Amino acid sequence: MSLIVQKFGGSSVRDTEHLLRMAHIARERRAEGNDVVVVLSAQGDTTDTLLKKALELTPSPDGREMDALLASGEQVSAALGALALQTLGVDAVSLSAWQVPIETDGAHGDAQIEMIDTARIRRELDAGRVAVVTGFQGVDENGDVTTLGRGGSDTSAVALAAALRADELIIYTDVDGIFSSDPRVCPDAVRRERISYDDMLLLAQKGAQVLHDRSVALAQQSGVPVTVKSCEAGSRGSVVCERGDAAQVVGVTQKKSEASQLAAITAVGDALPSVERERAVVTALERGGVSVYAVAGGERFLSVYVLRADADRALRLAHSALIR
Ligand code: ASP
Ligand code: MG
Repeated sequence: MSLIVQKFGGSSVRDTEHLLRMAHIARERRAEGNDVVVVLSAQGDTTDTLLKKALELTPSPDGREMDALLASGEQVSAALGALALQTLGVDAVSLSAWQVPIETDGAHGDAQIEMIDTARIRRELDAGRVAVVTGFQGVDENGDVTTLGRGGSDTSAVALAAALRADELIIYTDVDGIFSSDPRVCPDAVRRERISYDDMLLLAQKGAQVLHDRSVALAQQSGVPVTVKSCEAGSRGSVVCERGDAAQVVGVTQKKSEASQLAAITAVGDALPSVERERAVVTALERGGVSVYAVAGGERFLSVYVLRADADRALRLAHSALIR
């Protein structure tokens, strides 16, 4: 019997139909005799909607109250998730961070997990239940709810897998694994079978949103391999682990920020930085009508800066200049 942690992102639990699909996936692994812990994100764009409501009241909301507000999204998902499982005849219990507990520091909006007490989860598993745990949330030493930063449910899942010494961690998302670029923007992107922690961490830090950057660092520290796949039957997914597939350039990502007119397009891989590749990218962008404002290279990456409005096109051009 194995212990399996399955994390589902917001799009994978966005409505009743998706909640039930999540429950079917968890039930299947439970029926094989495994212990199953499910970690859920807030449904769909709940977190953005809550954030917007607070910003309608004040441009600088109090951190403690923001966390109390935003954490409610995951609370809803966990309770609905447990109900969905129960509907399918699976014994399940929802647990929020303070019930586990998942202890963090007090940095509201960007808290770091300090300790997870696994006793309660183990008791639920031993009683034959699936534990449905809120992602993104923590509790600080004052007993106040904290959150781990946007996208932080991935980090909750990795931390739980590490604390429980899980045999398997699967992160379900809306794409079929880790690609050489965001397949929603770049249709030529190719799926990577395996990608190293180092490359994935660099890609996440440079803007790839498929995994929270802190979750990758934590997975690497604790040696937890992370499978990323979609809920579609037949999804093959990708594994983030010590060694990736051989590729000179593993991926290309983009980072836009509200604060800047420019967006960074960053390629990551062993072959970088390289003068020839830099020339190839700049030429491809300029031929495609995208002006390059700056170029920067560092250990295993190369970034070009373009206007934010050109970022998607620049990503596609840079990807086809560098990959395949
Ligand atoms: N719901 C949170 C967010 O939207 C956390 C997560 O989804 O991982 O950022
Ligand atoms: Mg996410």
